[in-house]
Amino acid sequence: MNMGLIWRMRYEDEENLTPSWGNMLHLHGSGLYAQKNSRIQEEEEEEEEAHASKKTHILTTTLSSAAPDGLESVVINLDHGDPTMYEEFWKQKGEETTVVTSSWQHISYFSDVNNVCWFLEPGLVSAITALHRTVGNAVTEGRHIVVGTGSSQLYQAALYALSPVDGPGPMNVVSAAPFYSSYPLMTDYLKSELHKWAGDAYKFNKEEPYIELVTSPNNPDGFTRQDVVKGDKGILIHDLAYYWPQYTPILSPADYDIMLFTVSKSTGHAGSRIGWAVVKDREIAKKMTTFIEINTIGVSKESQIRAAKILQAVSDGCIHHNRKEAETNFFDYSYKLMAERWKRIREAVNKTTLFSLPSFPQETCSFSGRTFGQLPAFAWLKCEGEIDDCESFLRRHKVITRSGKHFGASMKYVRVSMLSRESEFKLLTERLPAIKT
Ligand code: PMP
Repeated sequence: MNMGLIWRMRYEDEENLTPSWGNMLHLHGSGLYAQKNSRIQEEEEEEEEAHASKKTHILTTTLSSAAPDGLESVVINLDHGDPTMYEEFWKQKGEETTVVTSSWQHISYFSDVNNVCWFLEPGLVSAITALHRTVGNAVTEGRHIVVGTGSSQLYQAALYALSPVDGPGPMNVVSAAPFYSSYPLMTDYLKSELHKWAGDAYKFNKEEPYIELVTSPNNPDGFTRQDVVKGDKGILIHDLAYYWPQYTPILSPADYDIMLFTVSKSTGHAGSRIGWAVVKDREIAKKMTTFIEINTIGVSKESQIRAAKILQAVSDGCIHHNRKEAETNFFDYSYKLMAERWKRIREAVNKTTLFSLPSFPQETCSFSGRTFGQLPAFAWLKCEGEIDDCESFLRRHKVITRSGKHFGASMKYVRVSMLSRESEFKLLTERLPAIKT
């Protein structure tokens, strides 16, 4: 999820306030339905709009018009990593994770004035530390936690905290390609004098200070990563949004200076907009807090309390149920789902010579004891042979993905979300093998 999503919001239907990307067929649960005003729309996008420099063809169809010739005319939008896949799990949790708030509650700006991050709800701190302890994916003892409106806000807070105000020029910000497509946008959209996007970390060879973003497992390609710049003037930010046992074997508790996490990808609650940073240095944590203070004067308490309830339920589910029962153990459920989806997409891709997928080494997860290769939240799909622009090619076949060019990579690649609802994923696995050049 990123800026591209917001930019694409066009309210086309005043009465229904239907965003244009909502006009694509939505496939909810058992029922397939299409927005009634769906139509083919060509959007001329500005070249600068990093996620939408091509004409976007949005489907003219309702389900009834798509039938009876089947679902070939249905647009499958897998551009965003919207984690709707987890909806079914949370539905069966019911009351256990329901939060009710009264109008007199959470009125104050403040949560805990004794904490460096004074707007951080104590219940969220407990839930975060309990979950990291249970999963064993990050060290939190003696660390500061800063909450953000998504880890996107924390990324910006970290850049603010790490870029000196009296530096010789804007701080260079780099990440190894293919990098998460929002980093360049979030780094440069305010044309700050504090920092500037300096591109692919593999190519960075200036004798200047820099911040390197290390995303592990990586978005878009799912690989485990380490820092790559060989200089000694660097500061690292570790974006560990996907360092959870449904996506990757957990090898050891991460113990870096600044680590970013988010409920968007851990539990799938992207709509709550809650992320957290685990920070070693108190001064950095303070500066990050200051950024959020200036930016949004804190973070929604309702969201924090909801996130706390959900994170606590996840760790309780792991501990009390012997990590076996998929209905109670979120990571067991989500691991099985990811493993099954990866099996299915690999089978689909193996039926054609047009596409290929990366393969990953197997490792043993210290949390689950299972041995497996990465099960990324995105498929980094390559178009083989003559197809040079994979995004346009798939778009012609009504599969919306994000081109490799937005990730600093070749247009032969696209990023495809693996986190959609089952009905969309099923359509993808049926359509890919059926595509002819
Ligand atoms: N970092 C990475 C690597 C991501 O993939 C995402 C979400 N796509 C984010 C950060 C942002 O997450 P949030 O929803 O918490 O802002």
